[in-house]
Amino acid sequence: MLNASQKEDSFERTIRPATIHDFVGQRKIIDNLSVFIKAARMREEPLDHVILSGPPGLGKTTLAGIIANEMGVQMRPTTGPVLEKPGDLAGMLTNLEEGDVLFIDEIHRLNPVIEEYLYSAMEDYKLDIVIDSGPNARSIQIDLKKFTLVGATTRKGLLTAPLRARFGIDLRLDYYDVELLQHIALRSAGILGIALSDQGAFEIARRSRGTPRIVNRLLRRTRDFAEVDGLDRIDEKIADKALNALEVDNNGLDDMDIRILTALIGNYKGGPVGVGTLAVAVGEEKGTIEEVYEPFLIQEGFLQRTPKGRVATAKAFSYLGIQPAPDNRDLFS
Ligand code: ADP
Repeated sequence: MLNASQKEDSFERTIRPATIHDFVGQRKIIDNLSVFIKAARMREEPLDHVILSGPPGLGKTTLAGIIANEMGVQMRPTTGPVLEKPGDLAGMLTNLEEGDVLFIDEIHRLNPVIEEYLYSAMEDYKLDIVIDSGPNARSIQIDLKKFTLVGATTRKGLLTAPLRARFGIDLRLDYYDVELLQHIALRSAGILGIALSDQGAFEIARRSRGTPRIVNRLLRRTRDFAEVDGLDRIDEKIADKALNALEVDNNGLDDMDIRILTALIGNYKGGPVGVGTLAVAVGEEKGTIEEVYEPFLIQEGFLQRTPKGRVATAKAFSYLGIQPAPDNRDLFS
């Protein structure tokens, strides 16, 4: 019997797209990446270093794996906070084969000392390591095989300028629209042998906050409800019942989205208000609001960025069941 985390892993492995053709959406990124991969393969060189940014669950890890597959190399994954000492980085780098992909998730959380070591590794495929300390301190240089660093971050704003400058390919993933998420739900259901109607998939997609990872999670939970009810197919009705039971918001908003809108409307009459003030009101970092939450609220038409600050839209007021104050009505006309 598999435990919960093993089940999760095997589920991930089965549905995670492995090739560029399986990856749904993000057309612009995929088109550009295909060109870069093709060109690198023709030159028989490793792909240039890639930085992938965007909110969680949109496919950064998946894309890193696809890059490795399409280049015909291995992907070696790690995360920023795990690389504590220069030796940890040296260990990863010296184990790479020619052309391999070193994937560093949460690269904005890299220790600054490690980051410095990474510069020469990325630029010249060399690692200068200082051994010993005091009068005995000396530096040794290790030659590395050529590799591709793929870094992923939800907070690109936190990357230092020197690190950012060393990535030749810079790709930002955006939230997915409902049709693409519906396609992802149907694709995953097909792989897992779950019968899912188009409307059932639409209902799950609509309430998944623009995020493939949430689609896949809700698909599995919805299947549980269908099975318990003795249904052999997920349709709109059972999807709606399951998502309501799971307290998934009708618009797919999560707790923080709702807090942002509530603060904006409840404390500041819908704005305009500066993002820093809003961040304090909801107890979240300003950068996380800007890079993770706002893009979804803007895409879905709940919030606008204006030169004077953030403004709640008529849709946000009606979502919270509140009438805009008379002096705010012109904002929406
Ligand atoms: P991130 O690294 O950005 O947090 P992941 O790459 O781990 O996100 O993706 C989360 C889940 O969503 C994975 O199970 C993956 O299979 C699925 N997924 C992500 N992007 C896509 C896509 N474009 N098409 C199909 N499935 C996707």
